[in-house]
Amino acid sequence: MGADCIFCSIVRGEAPATKVWEDELALAFADAFPLERGHLLVVPKVHVENIYALDPELGAHLFRLTVRLAAALKTELEPDGMNLFQANELAGGQEVFHFHLHILPRWKERAPFRIIPNRTRSPYDELERLFAPVRARMAGVGPRA
Ligand SMILES: [Zn+2]
Repeated sequence: MGADCIFCSIVRGEAPATKVWEDELALAFADAFPLERGHLLVVPKVHVENIYALDPELGAHLFRLTVRLAAALKTELEPDGMNLFQANELAGGQEVFHFHLHILPRWKERAPFRIIPNRTRSPYDELERLFAPVRARMAGVGPRA
């Protein structure tokens, strides 16, 4: 799986990358096609395709690292704002199928950030019907499984 994966190649040191942090579990490096100045990617060293395959403890490690990197970016590059972004599967816009978190500094002289410009209010009974089975599944498996 990892043989032709660009992020696995970066982890192995075979493909070039501007590394910002490395530990036994994770790597953070500059996105080679940055959306904004300071755009970083945080990846697990092990090949994990997407969030559904991600061990929650490894996810916690990646997010702790992301919090520290966001603080360092804020201090050193002084962006006006910051986004975290994480894509799963083609329909979610995932392009590299090795789990990654984007840390995306934002500057106010650029267009204001929008994901979807038009939003409409959902009735609470509809939301209740939609999420009842998700709530029940979470209660059944608990926070770790
Ligand atoms: Zn990989």
